Amino acid sequence: MILDEETLELRDMVREFVNNEIIPNAPKYEKKNEFAAPILDIAIDEMGLGCLCQPEEFGGAGLSNVAFLTLSEEIARGDLGIATTLFGNCLATYPVLIAGTDEQKKLWFDTLTEKKYAAFCLTEPNAGSDAGGVQTTAVPDGDDYIINGTKCFISNGGIAGIYTVLAVTDPKKGVLGLSAFIVERDREGVSIGKEEDKMGMRLSNTTEVIFDHVRVPKDHLLGKLNRGFKIIMETLDHSRAGVGAFGVGIAQRALEEATKYAKQRVQFGQPVANFQAVQHILADMAIEIECARQAYLHAGELIDAGAPYKMESAIAKTKGSDTAMKCAIDGLQVLGGYGYMKEYPLEKLVRDAKILQIYEGTNQIQRGVIAGCLLKKY
Ligand SMILES: Cc1cc2nc3c(=O)[nH]c(=O)nc-3n(C[C@H](O)[C@H](O)[C@H](O)COP(=O)(O)OP(=O)(O)OC[C@H]3O[C@@H](n4cnc5c(N)ncnc54)[C@H](O)[C@@H]3O)c2cc1C
Repeated sequence: MILDEETLELRDMVREFVNNEIIPNAPKYEKKNEFAAPILDIAIDEMGLGCLCQPEEFGGAGLSNVAFLTLSEEIARGDLGIATTLFGNCLATYPVLIAGTDEQKKLWFDTLTEKKYAAFCLTEPNAGSDAGGVQTTAVPDGDDYIINGTKCFISNGGIAGIYTVLAVTDPKKGVLGLSAFIVERDREGVSIGKEEDKMGMRLSNTTEVIFDHVRVPKDHLLGKLNRGFKIIMETLDHSRAGVGAFGVGIAQRALEEATKYAKQRVQFGQPVANFQAVQHILADMAIEIECARQAYLHAGELIDAGAPYKMESAIAKTKGSDTAMKCAIDGLQVLGGYGYMKEYPLEKLVRDAKILQIYEGTNQIQRGVIAGCLLKKY
């Protein structure tokens, strides 16, 4: 697809920010193992990138999904941890957009604007791919629910001011006994557990979030009682295309870095870019990237058109993340031994790319989703 003028302008503005602020500065935070708060402050306070799925009526930019995904690619091209932090806000927000009342949306966006970060709390130690296996409970008590349980691997878990949480409300009914809730960070009983020490995506905060007898009013239930699983699955169908866009961002960065390097590295009296074997690596990377980009843009177009998009979003996620992994590894190969060194960005791209095949549903699960759609269709 061809992007419209407005999206291109936005993309160029964000690209400039990525080139001037994220690419030169993010590695310093990664090296110091520090959260990149100053870069994120500029992204949120000056660039308005805090919650790009926020509708206009609630003070947001009201972007199309195509524009949203295009910007996701750009930011991931700069740094995946920063992209996951910013777009983690949208992952947490989708359940509210899908099922929330106007009052809930107002509470959500007011809190998000003030506290900057939100988190989506689905995964638990015994419920990963099997998301329906969550054990966190929400038990009615007068005008409230009391939530108990521990969520793990939560992006933005330790920095969020507000959470969306999936909990069991009827233990006898399996996935038809789960409900989604809004929970503010400052409620009594909410605490942060272990912060994960990760292989990559180091600038994203990943923690346990513990709910210990947390009392929330009944008006914090999202949508209907016992219909939370459907809301969470719709959320993931939507957000997965964004993981595909992140993958394209990483792959694109790997291609740019490898191409520049190949033109300046001289061996056998000439730049290694002159060798056909190297050219073919770069050409194959470009082929994969273009296909993966079109896959996420197509999913975005379908979402914007109100057409079914479940399979296309899973395809975009799988293609984008597999492309990120392949291009990061192949790009590193073009740099030879230098690619293996931390002085060059390729080894970080390899470490970052891997998570894209895992979070928001592993690529094995995505292939299951795609196959399920095919079996229904034909
Ligand atoms: C850095 C990071 C950030 C994350 N952020 C969040 C977040 O913000 N919010 C949140 O709720 N969760 C988050 N997650 C959790 C993430 O979504 C899960 O890790 C992921 O869904 C996989 O679950 P699991 O790790 O328990 O793996 P498991 O489900 O234990 O899977 C283990 C292996 O078995 C395979 N497998 C499992 N079931 C099947 C099946 N039916 N068919 C085929 N293969 C199967 C998997 O593909 C995988 O290879 C995050 C995870 C990480 C690592």
